[in-house]
Amino acid sequence: MSRYDLSFEAVVELLDGAPRYRADQLWEGMYRRYQEPGSITVLPREVRARLEAEPALASALREERRVSADRGDTSKWLLELHDGARIETVLMHHPRHSTVCVSSQAGCAMACSFCATGQGGFTRQMSVGEIVEQVVLAARASAESGRRLDHVVMMGMGEPMANYANVLDAVRRIVGDIGIGARHVTISTVGVVPGIRRLTAEPLQVNLAVSLHAANDELRDRLVPLNRRYPLSKLMQACGEYVEATHRRISFEWALIDQVNDRAADAAELAALAMPLKAHVNLIPLNPTPGYPAVGTPPGAVRAFRDRLTSYGVNVTVRKTRGQEIAAACGQLVVETPVGLKPRRGVAAQTAS
Ligand code: SAH
Repeated sequence: MSRYDLSFEAVVELLDGAPRYRADQLWEGMYRRYQEPGSITVLPREVRARLEAEPALASALREERRVSADRGDTSKWLLELHDGARIETVLMHHPRHSTVCVSSQAGCAMACSFCATGQGGFTRQMSVGEIVEQVVLAARASAESGRRLDHVVMMGMGEPMANYANVLDAVRRIVGDIGIGARHVTISTVGVVPGIRRLTAEPLQVNLAVSLHAANDELRDRLVPLNRRYPLSKLMQACGEYVEATHRRISFEWALIDQVNDRAADAAELAALAMPLKAHVNLIPLNPTPGYPAVGTPPGAVRAFRDRLTSYGVNVTVRKTRGQEIAAACGQLVVETPVGLKPRRGVAAQTAS
């Protein structure tokens, strides 16, 4: 249980008897100043003492370790949840903005072959508060180093759309209560079609990223097992409806794997999918993981692939890898799970929520 699981009404109830503005002060301290309830000094001392002892106001994240790279501009937290499950959260400072990469599940059931989280299997869903609290942690750390956290990407451990209801509730808190603009929040999915459909109908201006990696079913079936359930035709149809209904730009993530999906034919197939949707393509040279033998496309071939896409008219960027040396880069998030919480393997075990 996290204090960020509580609704405002529940906070009012916890402060039973106190005037309502005390609840506003507590809420404001938690969401806008990233404070511990016991440190919210606008509250009277006896109220603070009571709040400090209140189990419902406990923190859900125990920091086990924080490691940094890129001269402190990238940091990764290893966090333990109340039941011993572990997750990772990554904070990246750029010259003009700061981004937190948030986990939405402990582990992942999607089993993508090249992703370390997928290789480790699924442990459990994360609660709304456990998701929100990662953003608060990163916002507090940013403020402490004179930065302002302004972007959130649901690109950490897990498949956000396999934990849809909690992820969307968390996004509403991140936008409405923490105050990060919806346009600065990105939900990334490996292609859970019902999730994309639900998101299409939400009145929220968040961004959608689809981890594509292959533009034909034969290759995508091998890289992303969920493709057998939602093949490219279905996925592209859902993406098309999303773009049409929301008028927002979609982005396709493409981990470039040497000799696997970086050939001229791959670029042509990818362009054929991206162009009708006017999708933005994000190329990420594959980061190494223990369970997958292939390596990332070398820099020269990355440029060639990018240029080929550009020549087809595709809007494309190459994502700079961050935090590889601390295993904080895309696809490298993995934690050993303690005994008693055995991860389950298997493809797409849960897509409902
Ligand atoms: N499950 C969601 C959210 C995770 S996002 C999704 O797949 O979109 C993590 C991103 O990193 C995804 O785009 C994923 O495909 C990509 N990725 C996974 N393993 C990678 C690796 N080894 N190197 C580079 N990118 C990787």
